Amino acid sequence: MGKLVFAAWVATMLLSWAVLGPFLGYLIEGYDSSQLGKVPLALLLVFVLGSVGGTIVWARRLRNRQTDATASAQRRVLLGSLGTAGGLAATLGAAIAPNSRWYSTTVKNIFLPQPPYKADRYETDWAGTRIAAYRRLGRTEAMVSDISIGTGSSSGGRMTPAVAREAIERGMNYFDTAPDYSETGSETVLAEAMKGYRDQIFLATKFCTTSGHLGPGTSVADYMAAVDGSLQRLQTDYVDLVHIHSCNTVERLLDENVHEAFDRLRDQGKVRFLGVSTHTPDLEPVARAAIESDRFDVLMLAYHHGAWPSLQAIVDQAAENDIGVVAMKTLRGGLHQGLDWSRAESESFTQASFKWVLANPSVSCLVISLWEQAQLDEFFYASGQTPTDRDVAVLDRYAELTQAVHCRPHCGICLDSCPENLAIADVLRHKNYFESFGAQKEAMRLYAKLETKADVCLSCSAPCQSACPYEIPIAEHTRAADRLLRLT
Ligand code: SF4
Ligand code: SF4
Repeated sequence: MGKLVFAAWVATMLLSWAVLGPFLGYLIEGYDSSQLGKVPLALLLVFVLGSVGGTIVWARRLRNRQTDATASAQRRVLLGSLGTAGGLAATLGAAIAPNSRWYSTTVKNIFLPQPPYKADRYETDWAGTRIAAYRRLGRTEAMVSDISIGTGSSSGGRMTPAVAREAIERGMNYFDTAPDYSETGSETVLAEAMKGYRDQIFLATKFCTTSGHLGPGTSVADYMAAVDGSLQRLQTDYVDLVHIHSCNTVERLLDENVHEAFDRLRDQGKVRFLGVSTHTPDLEPVARAAIESDRFDVLMLAYHHGAWPSLQAIVDQAAENDIGVVAMKTLRGGLHQGLDWSRAESESFTQASFKWVLANPSVSCLVISLWEQAQLDEFFYASGQTPTDRDVAVLDRYAELTQAVHCRPHCGICLDSCPENLAIADVLRHKNYFESFGAQKEAMRLYAKLETKADVCLSCSAPCQSACPYEIPIAEHTRAADRLLRLT
């Protein structure tokens, strides 16, 4: 009888692994449970009840080994309970095991409040670090902190007024925000943080609305209204800089309406300087057109160790034209915590990345998303420092380990290979926000706004697979992204 009960529990465990495991996985991913089949679960329930029932019968029939008489009631209850509890625990474990990969994303990032891209171990000499260097932001003549704060999508709306204010008190004097960061949450938080400090801050926002970018042909009035909305939320009379946001076409860059709106806003004293931010496939023509137009005071570009060679020339060309250069996405995907490398390498990666970017004199400052005091300590520690050979070795090693994972922010080489016109780089970027930056909600929000979703990849023969010069298995990532980013 005992062997039969054991076999029943083994069968129940296997069924749990095959049925309840995937069901839990679907629930975690946000599937509508009403759409999931219930028959296998009913079958599992029958197996569980059968195994429990069998265990009880087995326990009731237990005999005393020495006398062959029925074992004592106490012993039967104890063994029956232990057998049932053990069987149920194993059944549940079999269902949880296939979902263990969620630990590194959902569980770790949502339920354990460990900011995903700060160092695991806190070095005491980082405590209370302050900004140590200021640089000239091109023709704006502003002297800005070399390490400054961006509040973009990777921060996932976790920035608080208290942390932003502490950053100011530690010498940080440049904030980058936008109406569509955390659905205006970023601007609202900064407004609170800047109370009493506004005149110390060089404040940059974007020409866009809560719902996103403004395309070419937007009326002058709408462009101006967008900035008025920002001023209202930021509780200020002016912003120092307004960017054309995440610009991917020269047409949008040079849209005469946006330039007229900027001129009028500047004449009204509501904005001081014009900039453009871009990390998009056509970064190069956009950045060159911006420089050549002589309309722009600041360029905000994705720039990090290992960035493509012509980007270096663009950064230098901007500086030669006295245009301030703000570096973003300096952590090259921020994948360092999940890598198979030493703890020491992981811990020094962020500071090494910053030092490498700031070693370029053409860069005015970098912006980094943060939301914790410990990140202020760690990040500001790199201010004013130059990279050592060891830092460069860490960055080289990171590049080697992430070669086939990290989608370069300004590449776009694969885009023409997709018959569905999927915004591959955006899909991979949102996946990265979800997995490596813990910004799940923001990643899903951004993904939901994409016109074409990566479900088109499910039935596609993947002509994109050989299109990436860095050998990133695109279809594998886009399919995984679709599953991940449809959480509701
Ligand atoms: S697998 Fe997806 S990204 Fe690749 S070509 Fe097909 S639809 Fe485009
Ligand atoms: S997947 Fe590869 S080719 Fe496509 S944008 Fe990213 S880095 Fe470039």
